This record gives sequence, C-alpha cells and structure tokens, in this order.
Amino acid sequence: MKVLVINCGSSSLKYQVLDMQNESLMCKGLVERIGMDGSVINHTKIGMDKVVKEVPMKDHKDAIAQVLDAVQNPEYGVVKSMDEIGAVGHRVVHAGEKYAESVLITDDVIKALEECVELAPLHNPPNLMGIAACRELMPDTPMVGVFDTAYHQTMPPESYIYAIPYEYYEKYGIRRYGFHGTSHKFVAQRAAAMLNTNINDLKIITCHLGNGASVTAIKHGRVVDTSMGFTPLEGLVMGTRCGDIDPAIVTYIREKENLPQGVANEILNKKSGVLGISGVSSDFRDLEDALSEGNERAALALRVFAHKVRFYIGAYIAEMNGVDAIVFTAGVGENDVYMRDIICTNLGNLGIKLDPIKNKVRGKETEISTEDSKVKLLLIPTNEELMIARDTYNIARKVK
Ligand code: AMP
Repeated sequence: MKVLVINCGSSSLKYQVLDMQNESLMCKGLVERIGMDGSVINHTKIGMDKVVKEVPMKDHKDAIAQVLDAVQNPEYGVVKSMDEIGAVGHRVVHAGEKYAESVLITDDVIKALEECVELAPLHNPPNLMGIAACRELMPDTPMVGVFDTAYHQTMPPESYIYAIPYEYYEKYGIRRYGFHGTSHKFVAQRAAAMLNTNINDLKIITCHLGNGASVTAIKHGRVVDTSMGFTPLEGLVMGTRCGDIDPAIVTYIREKENLPQGVANEILNKKSGVLGISGVSSDFRDLEDALSEGNERAALALRVFAHKVRFYIGAYIAEMNGVDAIVFTAGVGENDVYMRDIICTNLGNLGIKLDPIKNKVRGKETEISTEDSKVKLLLIPTNEELMIARDTYNIARKVK
C-alpha cells in the first residue's frame, strides 16, 4: 500500500508518499504561502531534482489539489492515479484526552478534534482544514489521524495534574498533555531495536532537541512523564520559547512594561529561549559561531539550554528509578556535537559516559556512549512521517 502523509500548518503544508511494502520514501514536498501572494509548491521525486511551481492557492483545498496533481504528474509524480494511494495519514497536534492512539477519521473524530481547537488554536484548525480538503478530493480513501499528544496519554495523574484548583482541570481540561509524541515514540522504538531488547524491559529517556524541544521518560513502553505541558511552551528552554519559568514573572512583566496579554504570549513564545538570552539567534549554529568569537551571552544561552536538559534527565532517572538508554534526536540532538557533549559532561556517577570520539557524528543512527557506560547514549534521527505512515497503514489495511 502507498500512503500519503499530510502535515498542514497555517500557511504551509508538508507531504510525503511512502510505499509501505518496504517503507520507502517515493516523493516529498512542501507547499508554502497558502492563502497569500506567491504561493508555491516544492516537490521532489526521490532520485530527481526538486520541481518548484508558483501557483495561486487561496486555501488548503487548493494546496491539497496541487499536491495531488504533483503526486500524479507523468514526469515527476509517483502514481498514475490517486486510486493507488491506499490511505492518507494526517498529523494532528492536539487530541486532548480523547485519543491515546491514532484513529481512522470519521465524522465523530472530526467533531472531537474540533472540540480540541481551544487547546491548540494555532495548530488544530489548519490540521482540520487539511483533513476536510482531502476528504472532499479523495472521498473513498481512508484517512487516519495521528496525534502529537496521543503517546503521552499513559502519563499518570501525578505527572499531568497542575497544582491549581482542580475545577480548572474539570471545566477547561487544564492539565499537562505533552507534544512531539510521534517523534518520541519513533525514537523509543528504534532505541529498543538498536539494543535488541523488548521496549517493555527498558527505561528510556528521549530528548527531542529541535527548535521546539522536549524530553520524555518512557518506562517499559509507556510514557510516565514529558516536559511539555498544557501547551508546547512548558519544559526545556527552546529556540524562541521560554520553557519553565515562575508564572509570577508573566504578571510582573505585563505590569512593568504595560503589555497586553497577546504581546506577553508572543514574547514568551517567539522572543525568549536561547534567542532571548543571547540576543543573537535561535539557531544553535549561530550561537556556537558567536561563542567561538567570545560572545558571552551566546555562551550563557547554550549553558542554560544544557542545564535544563540535564535537569530533566536527572528528574526522569529519579522518577523511573534508573535509565537504560538516553536518546538524542531532532535538529540539535542529531547534529550538535558540542551540545551533546556539554549535556553529558560529568554524569559518570549516574553511569552515563559519552565517548567524545564516537560523539563526532551527525544525523546518523549510532551509539555514542563509551564501552563501560552503564547507560547507552544513542543518536537516532527522528522520522515522524514514517511513524505516521506506519500507523496509517496499520489502521487502513484493516478497513480496506
Ligand atoms: P528542528 O526543529 O528539529 O528542525 O531543529 C532545527 C534546529 O536544529 C536549528 O534551529 C538549529 O538550531 C539546529 N541545528 C541544525 N543543524 C545543526 C548543526 N549542524 N549544528 C547545530 N545545530 C543544528
């Protein structure tokens, strides 16, 4: 079966077609500037050069129509007709407490996801637009929803309940949900495969360190804690997001700077993190360039980031009463040799020893701990699209 994977943002859309017979990628693409001037589709058939086409696209339906066109193109497409696509997998950010696993999309599922729009006002609406457009253009093809929050639904209440009046949980669903679940699940499964051990016998900490970043504790195949919370703002210091801060800071800054709520939100989401500390960039490559030129705030930003990752690793070792493997993934986790090094420095007492030579590697699945390290340190490139395609295939083949 061939599976189309769709990941809709507010003005962009990423897609891939995978052949699930051997899980190979056939084509991938990115549509940008949906609903704006200069909307464009970038399409790459594997083994061929990228094709870039500017076409007016007023909404997500137009964008999906362009994707379907590209996928069927006689020259750079990968199927003769959409009948060859057995199922479509949609990334959906928030499924609240409703779904702990991926599901076949039905009218009831859509209704449930619409109810989660309040919890993810930036993400769920475009995700739902993508689903609606695909259902209209491919009415007979099964659609599957794969949710960022689903994998974390196994967290026990003591991990997800905030210490605020309980009625806010009951009335508004204010609790910790966690995000990046598809990525954490993928790398945890790969870690178990690399260690040749059943995931049910392992304690794993997965560090998804990208522009957005989160750490997850997975005990015997079940998430017991994760660093993101009600929204993806909680937890680690990120590229531009503040992560954990004293909530009193928000009211204090708003008063001092006379800021409306929307602006305060924007500062915490877009102007904080390593960008906010350094004043240089949210990109770790820029920060490390600045560090080598002696920029002290860039150095501080990198140290604060590493401190927070170590903080969560320590907390999760305590929570799980040990750890067998720690995984690094996403842009920083996969590529940043220096950051992995400072995160793992001086953890020998916990049985964690990074091999500095093995660590000199980027974007490749490999072990980077020393021979005598009790805890395995693993570098595992994430592949959320493949995870979505797998779930989609497994669900769709039962209904076909
Ligand atoms: P992601 O959100 O997973 O795509 O990660 C993007 C981030 O990864 C970028 O903003 C960079 O900070 C970081 N990154 C990517 N490549 C490198 C690299 N070679 N060295 C250090 N950081 C990198």
